[in-house]
Amino acid sequence: ENGDVPAYAAMLNEPQRQAVLTTEGPVLMLAGAGTGKTAALTARLAHLIATRRAWPSEILCVTFTNKAAREMRERVGRHIGDAVEGMPWLGTFHSIGAKMLRRHAELVGLKSNYTILDTDDQLRLLKQLIRDQELDEKRWPARQLAALIDRWKNRGLNPGDLDAVENEAYANGRGTQFYKLYQDRLKALNACDFGDLLLHMLNIFRQHHDVLAQYQKRFKYILVDEYQDTNQVQYLWLRLLAQERKNICVVGDDDQSIYSWRGAEVANILKFEKDFPGAAVVKLEQNYRSTPQILAAASGLINANSERLGKTLWTELPAGEKVRVVGVWDGPEEARRVGEAIERLESEGAPLDEIAILVRAQYQTREFEDRFIQIGLNYRIVGGFRFYERAEIRDMLAYLRVISQPADDLAFERIYNQPKRGLGAKTLEVMQRHARRTQAPLAAASLELAETDELPARARNTLVGLLSQFVHWREQSEKVTPSELLRMVVAESGYEEMLQKDRSAESAGRSENLTELARAMEDYETLGDFLEHVGLVMDNDRANDGEKVTIMTMHAAKGLEFDHVFLPGWEEGVFPSQRAIDEGGLASLEEERRLAYVAITRAKRRCTIYHAANRRIYGQWTSSIPSRFIEELPGDYVESETTMSGGASLWRANWTENEDPFAHVSSNRPGRSSARGPGWQRALASGYDATPKRLAEPGKSAASFAAKPRTDVAVG
Ligand code: ATP
Ligand code: MG
Repeated sequence: ENGDVPAYAAMLNEPQRQAVLTTEGPVLMLAGAGTGKTAALTARLAHLIATRRAWPSEILCVTFTNKAAREMRERVGRHIGDAVEGMPWLGTFHSIGAKMLRRHAELVGLKSNYTILDTDDQLRLLKQLIRDQELDEKRWPARQLAALIDRWKNRGLNPGDLDAVENEAYANGRGTQFYKLYQDRLKALNACDFGDLLLHMLNIFRQHHDVLAQYQKRFKYILVDEYQDTNQVQYLWLRLLAQERKNICVVGDDDQSIYSWRGAEVANILKFEKDFPGAAVVKLEQNYRSTPQILAAASGLINANSERLGKTLWTELPAGEKVRVVGVWDGPEEARRVGEAIERLESEGAPLDEIAILVRAQYQTREFEDRFIQIGLNYRIVGGFRFYERAEIRDMLAYLRVISQPADDLAFERIYNQPKRGLGAKTLEVMQRHARRTQAPLAAASLELAETDELPARARNTLVGLLSQFVHWREQSEKVTPSELLRMVVAESGYEEMLQKDRSAESAGRSENLTELARAMEDYETLGDFLEHVGLVMDNDRANDGEKVTIMTMHAAKGLEFDHVFLPGWEEGVFPSQRAIDEGGLASLEEERRLAYVAITRAKRRCTIYHAANRRIYGQWTSSIPSRFIEELPGDYVESETTMSGGASLWRANWTENEDPFAHVSSNRPGRSSARGPGWQRALASGYDATPKRLAEPGKSAASFAAKPRTDVAVG
């Protein structure tokens, strides 16, 4: 080192360098967004290898996503050259756990070539068990059991560890029994699920001290990014591995803990100093990512949370634009405006890869996808499927295709037994054989088939029932609007019931997607028009590579950064989500607010927030009130505008004769209440005046950024 600063440390500031050079002993880097935590962790990795403190294979480095691992590997490689062959223990908890388990599988009764089940396989297996045990699957859905088992595994609990209360959660106290049956079955299949990757290893560490000792010795250094979102099993696993050498460096931000719904515990980072006494604590306060305005807006917002450590953040970056809050009339206008703004940025030379739209819920992507396809703007959906590719959307499109086009065999095959009607693969085989023989479309052939005795009576009846439903829907399709038709099909096909019975975390999102599909269909006069549109959209999906705008959820955006960030749908019930509001607890709203903080701090140069005054659900317009988070943004750094010059006259359309439109205005300001009054009242409460409105909150504004080269934003 000779006083020369190696390249990987050249750009680092003093505290970052300290985090890199304090190689021995535990290190905690707890700092706000964009302060260079990940950058410092990457430099530390390079430093450890470059100075021969450890071989690449002797370092355990955990990132939150595979993408982050790839980037880190690339960056380290750039600094220390490819003399370093890959870093085998750099990856996500799952990928590292899977690799370890391969070596020790026999210790938990598996072979090293075990398969990892995906969620679908897992559900199928659980369903079998439920049926074997003659439990009513409708009453106790497999998804619920899967979610429960996941939760236990996230907490490091084996079937023997559950107490009575936890056990009660499924099938009147049979939770443990099913958990155990499931684990036994997995073993018999030489398989494990995602949760097992860590739980098995934890069990091995606990029971086989020689194995633990071997890894404790091997991993001279342990590095962990996004530590605030580790769950219990990950925490226990790391703690065991680090116990011997204690060279563990974790980085994170308590304000960015957003995965508690998946079992993450922010307490893990808060108690690090207790777990590892004598830990060096490095604080990073300079933000290198965002303009002063963006930083101040985000800092002011997160300040409304009570459960936080509190941090000071400052930046030397030149002043930029204020965070913009744009009120629009409705969803389509929101999508149109975002599209226009992006086209403007593009014409100014902004690369599309530096632009992101971050949404709270998956269903929100639809409006943007439709719009972008219409204007020919390339986009990618990260961490999820494009709207029209999602399973429940494809299912419903299949129904609609069969209605519109009875000969659409592919569509019919998709849904003849979805939701489950007891028509299995066997039945399909018979149907297909008959169709081939008679050279008729599958649906028509099935109808004929139902008059023979080739199928068992039950299957025959079910088929006839289904096909007559299609006849009915086909008739209706001439009479009602496409979106009304969809609603009918969702309800009458049993699909809605299936989703309602499904108590998993995803099922709400799936219902929301169907509501959104209905919304999309409102714009079309006939079913044919709509299906043609979808056909074109799907075609566009095969579009080229090249630069693309990113659309993703706020959750998936953690750790990333973009020049320009668009944040649509900041309305009560969308963000914060209705679920968080309904739960009503402080904890869930504070987690939503942390999510807002994560979202805003992804922006380097410009951040634009949108809220619509109206959203349409199944043809019904409902008024929305702006998110409480908008009110909480410090006014000095925010510029609000509304596109509704004639707003007042437009709301009037919603009034009924004998309501006094102004009766509740003063007593019903938006903000912390989620009260849902009549439409006009909420519209008024949303404060859509024609003039730009400041959202200043006295006493909360931070020092002016523009004036000074270095500015502190005291927070918390
Ligand atoms: P998050 O909390 O969002 O994960 P982070 O603390 O991990 O943020 P990084 O992503 O490491 O922050 O860094 C944010 C940006 O600042 C990156 O573009 C990075 O290259 C840059 N950066 C980090 N440290 C420095 C530095 N010392 N000098 C200049 N730029 C830096
Ligand atoms: Mg980071």
